[in-house]
Amino acid sequence: MAPVDRDADGRRGLPPVRPDLVALTGYHSAQVEVEVRLNTNESPLPPPPEWYEALLAGLGAIEFNRYPDREVTELRSALADLHDVRPEQVFCANGSNEVLQSLLLAYGGPARTAALFEPTYTLHRHIARVTGTEVVAGARAADFALDLVEVARVLSAADPVITFLCSPNNPTGRADPIADVEAVLAMAPSLLVVDEAYGQFAPWSSLEILSGRGPGAERTAVVRTFSKTWSMAGARLGYLVADPEVVRACEMVALPYHLDAAKQLAGCLALRFVDAMEARVAMLTEERGRIAASLAGLPVETWPSDANFILFRPLQKEARDVWTDLLEASVLVRDCSQWPGLTGCLRVTVGLPGENDRFLAALSESLI
Ligand SMILES: *Cc1c(COP(=O)(O)O)cnc(C)c1O
Repeated sequence: MAPVDRDADGRRGLPPVRPDLVALTGYHSAQVEVEVRLNTNESPLPPPPEWYEALLAGLGAIEFNRYPDREVTELRSALADLHDVRPEQVFCANGSNEVLQSLLLAYGGPARTAALFEPTYTLHRHIARVTGTEVVAGARAADFALDLVEVARVLSAADPVITFLCSPNNPTGRADPIADVEAVLAMAPSLLVVDEAYGQFAPWSSLEILSGRGPGAERTAVVRTFSKTWSMAGARLGYLVADPEVVRACEMVALPYHLDAAKQLAGCLALRFVDAMEARVAMLTEERGRIAASLAGLPVETWPSDANFILFRPLQKEARDVWTDLLEASVLVRDCSQWPGLTGCLRVTVGLPGENDRFLAALSESLI
């Protein structure tokens, strides 16, 4: 470490932060007050009123003077039932981002490498770097599908401990065909992590690889979240389904009692409302189709989506100017135009019908 100036008492003040962190830029989405918030892929609808009622009743029965269930017994067994796996195959954490961090703390770190294929969820790279894990990135094809030749090149050169996929891929939208995921699994030297934050919007899931118990199933981890389809971004709850050995590895790096009692309850109760969740997904899927159809009539390039957002690129106007026009109309979308491989792109989250109308009207106004 570089020598640091000391004061007269020999103290050197705050330590400099780790030099490898200084180069990292934070992950932020603008948080501005707007009427139509379509920038972070949340659900536009809250959980059902019956969920709130059950939560309020349950909170009153929690012994808040006691530590919560460290094993997260009830929630893990409810999730295991949902996915037809064993509770030992489920690890829960404070949002799926903390699941990803746990995987990287357990398996990554100095002198170890994680592989990913961009453009993809930027936090995979960010969390890997925060844990001191080396990152190698391959490129997706021009249409954002996986390029299996590129995947083979990257994986054989880097020998990563973790290979990340995101399916449906944020921010480009498409789910990777299960055959592509299986091809990546066959080429990956070690653990394959499939981030399925939008899994319920997709026609298939890598959970099928786990339940099929085919080759590589024990090296596959599927990560899910309550933040999107379950309408619970405010609760910070995510989980993975994997081989029990992966779960034990994550438990080794989790802090004691890291999942509070209220959150465990909130998650258990949410799972009683699968039908309501599926109804929200159906409504949003229909709205996604409506937005896509309208975008087809505007001077933008778009990509098909299997999630609750659509990536688009204005063809005749700077993305940043379009973003600003939308903001002036009190519609906030995500500006991805500076992200690698996404030059000139914006991403809109599918909202309620009225919100989507506001977005489409403001976008036409800006473009035509
Ligand atoms: C939104 C999102 C998450 C969610 O993270 P949480 O910490 O569970 O809120 C994870 N992965 C991807 C790809 C996402 O888009």
